Amino acid sequence: MAPTTKECDFLVIGGGSGGLACARRASGMYGAKTIAIESRFLGGTCVNVGCVPKKVTWYAASVAETLHLAKEYGFSIKETAPFDWAAFKHKRDAYVKRLNGIYEKNLENDKVEYLNGRAHFTGPKSVEVKLQDGKTVAVNAKKILIATGGHATLPKDIEGSELGITSDGFFELETRPKKVALVGAGYIAVEMAGMFNMLGSETHLFIRHKTFLRTFDPMIQEKTTEEYERQGVHVHKESAQTKLEKGSDGKLTLHYKDSSNPDGTTLTGLDTVLWGIGRSPEVEDLNLKSVGEIKQTEKGHLEVDEYQNTSVQDIYALGDVCGKVELTPVAIAAGRRLADRLFGGEQFHDSKLDYTNIPSVVFAHPEIGAIGLTEPEARKKFGDDDIKVYNSSFTAMFYSIMDASQKKPTSFKLVVQGKDEKVVGLHIMGEGSAEMLQGFGVAIKMGATKKDFDRCVAIHPTSAEELVTLK
Ligand SMILES: Cc1cc2nc3c(=O)[nH]c(=O)nc-3n(C[C@H](O)[C@H](O)[C@H](O)COP(=O)(O)OP(=O)(O)OC[C@H]3O[C@@H](n4cnc5c(N)ncnc54)[C@H](O)[C@@H]3O)c2cc1C
Repeated sequence: MAPTTKECDFLVIGGGSGGLACARRASGMYGAKTIAIESRFLGGTCVNVGCVPKKVTWYAASVAETLHLAKEYGFSIKETAPFDWAAFKHKRDAYVKRLNGIYEKNLENDKVEYLNGRAHFTGPKSVEVKLQDGKTVAVNAKKILIATGGHATLPKDIEGSELGITSDGFFELETRPKKVALVGAGYIAVEMAGMFNMLGSETHLFIRHKTFLRTFDPMIQEKTTEEYERQGVHVHKESAQTKLEKGSDGKLTLHYKDSSNPDGTTLTGLDTVLWGIGRSPEVEDLNLKSVGEIKQTEKGHLEVDEYQNTSVQDIYALGDVCGKVELTPVAIAAGRRLADRLFGGEQFHDSKLDYTNIPSVVFAHPEIGAIGLTEPEARKKFGDDDIKVYNSSFTAMFYSIMDASQKKPTSFKLVVQGKDEKVVGLHIMGEGSAEMLQGFGVAIKMGATKKDFDRCVAIHPTSAEELVTLK
């Protein structure tokens, strides 16, 4: 039987952060006949295996930390049983499922037709969708958006790497691993190592260099790595892994070298090994060759101009599949700007996302926030003479009445440029950094100077007040 054929103005492949934002605006706000295709669960990476379940787990880890510190404030709380990971996971899964339903309802409200299936191109304006129920639908569209995101990767050259999990597997764990190893220095590995550690797993973090979070300012890299070690995470520096194997008892053994064991050694008795070594664009199944010459980077990301146009007319791409700034609000903002430009009329003909000064945070323990240039980037861009740096390191009041061994550090760095001392970078580490950064982000996006910061009266007693009183 020939497949059903549908026609639309706008076809969106990928029901994640960027795709849904774009489809809903195109249809709900501008009335474009829009179809959205999602092969797994609505909400994409962020809702199902990213930001949302991650932050909920981070909250669990923060509760564990607070319980641990409660005695410092005079509470005589005794933990009588270990953290019930299974019960927590069940609640977290139910929350994610609820969100999937809300996302489907939102599509309905905005009159976007939703197809649950896997899409591949059959031509530059046509796609075939294999639906979950086994049927096939052909869709012809005037314009097509590729918002298929990315997926975590396993190392190719390490024997037995498939015995480990990726960040997706983190959310499938039914019980808390007693002993866990994570490989990777990016924010996902660092966040997950922090959560495992706080929730009571013996945690080993393997990194290639001496510090982690290598795209962040050196202050953040050094202080967070130090702090993780202080908290008991075993950080294996300058490491490389050669093999992963499973014993008859089901436990894993990781073969590796690091700065303390340059000739190689093993870590045994592991319940879980998590590879956090990076993500690749999800383009493999799209049959891109059928659309003509679509430009991709060496890693497979789709190349787009500042308006999210690919090299093929009427095909657009945004979000993680382009690999520029892989964050949910970036994909959403790019999606909304694109819908405005394509369907919002003349007033939006120039609508596009400005990718500069995008704030980002890491839900590590402690939290990290950053916006703008790191100190080395600023010095390189403007020259040493044009850059001034303000630093502050202190103990947040929360820790003031605690034993020295329990005190977590707080460190802030402001990078300013030129005579006016325009703020070009802000790097913060400490309790509340994630919430703190959003407001400062607005000021920096508006072009704030150090004087503007100083003119704002401090809120006392907070950690954030240090940022408006830097000397
Ligand atoms: C562990 C983890 C934690 C994260 N934490 C944060 C955070 O705290 N804050 C933050 O801002 N960002 C975070 N991110 C990043 C964020 O999740 C992504 O940047 C965001 O989801 C990208 O949105 P997207 O629309 O580009 O792609 P996605 O959300 O990945 O959506 C793409 C969708 O396309 C679907 N798809 C792929 N191929 C096809 C096909 N052929 N046919 C049909 N459907 C297809 C996929 O199933 C997927 O649902 C995190 C990511 C991870 C992995």
